[in-house]
Amino acid sequence: MMMTARQYEDSLRKLDLVVYMFGRRVENPVDCQILRPSMNAVAKTYDMAHEPEFEDIMTAVSHVSGEKINRFTHIHQNTADLVKKTKMGRLLGAHTGCCFQRCVGMDALNALSIVTYDIDREYGTGYNGRFLTYLAYVQENDLTCDGAMTDPKGNRAFPPHKQPDPDMYLRVVEEKEEGIVVRGAKAHQTGAVNSHEIIVMPTIAMREADQDYAVSFALPSDAPGITYIVGRQSCDTRKSESDPTDAGNILFGGHEALVVFDDVFVPWERVFLYKEHEFAGLLVERFAAYHRQSYACKSGVGDVLIGAAQTIAEYNGVQNAAHIKDKIIEMNHLNETLYCGSLACAAEGRKEPSGTWSVDTLLANVSKQNVTRFPYEIARLAQDIAGGLMVTLPSAADFKSPVVGKWLEKYYAAHPDVSTENRFRILRLIENLTLGAAAVGYLTESMHGAGSPQAQRIMIARQADVPEKQKLAKKLCGITHKL
Ligand code: SF4
Ligand code: FE
Repeated sequence: MMMTARQYEDSLRKLDLVVYMFGRRVENPVDCQILRPSMNAVAKTYDMAHEPEFEDIMTAVSHVSGEKINRFTHIHQNTADLVKKTKMGRLLGAHTGCCFQRCVGMDALNALSIVTYDIDREYGTGYNGRFLTYLAYVQENDLTCDGAMTDPKGNRAFPPHKQPDPDMYLRVVEEKEEGIVVRGAKAHQTGAVNSHEIIVMPTIAMREADQDYAVSFALPSDAPGITYIVGRQSCDTRKSESDPTDAGNILFGGHEALVVFDDVFVPWERVFLYKEHEFAGLLVERFAAYHRQSYACKSGVGDVLIGAAQTIAEYNGVQNAAHIKDKIIEMNHLNETLYCGSLACAAEGRKEPSGTWSVDTLLANVSKQNVTRFPYEIARLAQDIAGGLMVTLPSAADFKSPVVGKWLEKYYAAHPDVSTENRFRILRLIENLTLGAAAVGYLTESMHGAGSPQAQRIMIARQADVPEKQKLAKKLCGITHKL
């Protein structure tokens, strides 16, 4: 059954999550002023799935049950599914102006659908059957899953088993008859406290000596022993002020958390990889390729920022200046290039032995490499167009002050038909996206999320067939020599 946004919110209230923020336990994350905008963003993934206009993009037919499901729980069955996934990312980015958090779970499910099958083929294990039972549960209940990959990693010079503190990569500390006990942490977990489930995967390729670290499993997000420590975002406390205008985006936001697993029990039926160390790297690659495609979300957020830049240009009365028009064109060019990359890796997808369709790895990596750069340039252009007022503007409370409010109204007026308040609002949105709370998602997450730039460059080096290109070049100029 597909949940509505309301049912989703109610389902979160039933969870018993251990969440800490500002040194204190957050008893009820759903009603926490700072966290609630991030819940709203995930709720939008439920909401829009019920709108007829978006049904084709937001829903799919389950290959397991034949039922209509939310696309965020779907296993891609063809290139059309992958293309719709890209479109869904852009759509939601545009409607929320932030990270809507639900892609990590979708990408983890799809990666596991491939790799559990491949492990079974190699070893005759039963992971894929277990996984499909779990998938059916996720689809039937329309759950939000948090795909958890990034370990704290300690000293990067050492592999997991050589770390001075053996918990720097999540590991199995005990094997029991009914399951395993795990210890460790996952960092930067997008949407963690808005999730019903957490799906853990290894973060790097591993060797035999690291086999206790080669583990993948799923747990309910409120399983005993899991603690969430929410990360700070710039300007986060603006969300808790009585007037939300200073936050910029008054409806939506994202959040990340450090998730600590303090000797947590996982029953066997929820374990999807255990000690098959040679498959750890493959799972990482699969997840990374899917997640790099998911960054189509940034072209949706880019739509919002371009819209905001055009609006402030009009409010300032400069929209007809040739250089402003050209900057808007440049922003669009960069933003559509981001979209092209995500679409291209989807269109060039192929079927895996498991039946799941995977994206083209080279193109997914090229696409994400663009994402590490272009949002910064788009943000720079938006700040250029917005002007310095974006960062020197007094607070919403000052605008309402009986003493100084009149001065702000007078001196910050620009366009005769536009209220000073609306000029204020659009500037705050640009601030939010380019250096406030949403810049966490739009900029730094674009840089490091789904792998830092160098991770993509390694994959590009591996996947681009340079010797073949050399052959082409040599043939055209008559070189027959081997070198
Ligand atoms: Fe999805 Fe984008 Fe957020 Fe990653 S950053 S979870 S791809 S919305
Ligand atoms: Fe991410």
